[in-house]
Parts: sequence; structure tokens; C-alpha cells
Amino acid sequence: MKVNRRKMATSRIEILMQRAEEAYPRDKALAHRYAALARGLLTRHNAKFPKHWKRRVCKKCGKFLVVGDNCRVRTHKSRVTITCLECGDVVRVPFK
Ligand SMILES: [Zn+2]
Repeated sequence: MKVNRRKMATSRIEILMQRAEEAYPRDKALAHRYAALARGLLTRHNAKFPKHWKRRVCKKCGKFLVVGDNCRVRTHKSRVTITCLECGDVVRVPFK
């Protein structure tokens, strides 16, 4: 039962994040709201972001991140550095 609920939460997160992506160009506040809702589901259902969405939400301020608009992605010394331009939080992801 628990696994099932988590799966359901994950699919709802998927939908919310797609809506956020659609909404972003015309209504940034709405996109951030969707991202916040998705993040709420994570904690409530002990679920995880699908991999392709994981880096699209700032861990600190919870805003929806769009590369080239409100977040900066740089590679340096085999690390990807993702900077949230909303709150200035930096996430570094190593790669080979
Ligand atoms: Zn942020």
C-alpha cells in the first residue's frame, strides 16, 4: 500500500512539474507554485523527484529552475555547478 501511494505521488509530481514547465514562460509565480506543490508531495509521501526533474527545483527556496533564465549551469573540475539565481544557492554535482 505504501509503495502504491508513493508511485501515485510520483506520477502527480510528474504532472505538476510538466505544468510548471508549461506555465513558466507566461506566469513564473504559477510555475513556482506548482514546484512548491510537487515538493510538498515529496515530503508528505516520502517520494522522490523523478531524475529528470530533480535538478529543476531549488533545494533551498523551492523555486522552479529554468536554465538560462533563473539558474546558471557551469562545469568546472569535473563538477556541474547549478546556481539558483533566485536565492543564490549553489548545488555541485560531480561527474566523470
Ligand atoms: Zn533557490
